Amino acid sequence: MTQDEMQRQRIESICAVGLRVGALSGVDPGALTFCFETAVSDTPLTGAKLEVEFVPARGRCRSCGHEFEAEDFLFLCSKCDSRDVDMLTGQELDIVYLSKP
Ligand SMILES: [Zn+2]
Repeated sequence: MTQDEMQRQRIESICAVGLRVGALSGVDPGALTFCFETAVSDTPLTGAKLEVEFVPARGRCRSCGHEFEAEDFLFLCSKCDSRDVDMLTGQELDIVYLSKP
C-alpha cells in the first residue's frame, strides 16, 4: 500500500499488516518481513508489524479426488500418481487485514 492509498482511505497509522503468502508465490516470508521493516521506516507505517500467514501448496487429484499437500512444487497425486491435478492453494499473495492501533 502506498502512502497515497493510505491518505485516500484515511488511514493514519497501522500497527500490523496481515499478509497471506502461498508456498508457490515465490515470496520468502523471512525476506519479505525484513524488506517490509526496511521499507516502512520513516513512513507513517514505522513500527508496523508484518504478520505473515504461510499457505502450503495443496492440490486435488482429478482422477481420484484425493487432496494432498504438494512437496517440492511437485503436483503429483500422492495416492494414484496422477499428474492431472487442480491446484487449490499456494499462489496467494494477499493482504488479509490492516490493524489500526
Ligand atoms: Zn489421485
